[in-house]
Amino acid sequence: MEKLKVSDACIGCGLCVSQLEKYFEFNDEGLSSVKQEEVNEEDKKDLLNVIESCPVGAIVIEEEKEA
Ligand code: SF4
Repeated sequence: MEKLKVSDACIGCGLCVSQLEKYFEFNDEGLSSVKQEEVNEEDKKDLLNVIESCPVGAIVIEEEKEA
């Protein structure tokens, strides 16, 4: 399963939150945090666009290994 993550590099520009409210929200520090970790196949293109647009490259999709 693929999981969405935002790293500490986030500077809180708000781009991902404004473009994909389904997946991102602001935390108490005004930085992006992941609202929905699970990546839906139909949203992948939009997510990849946002990942490319993030000015600090803070968003990643990680492949979660089955235990
Ligand atoms: S686009 Fe990147 S820097 Fe901007 S809020 Fe989202 S994760 Fe943070």
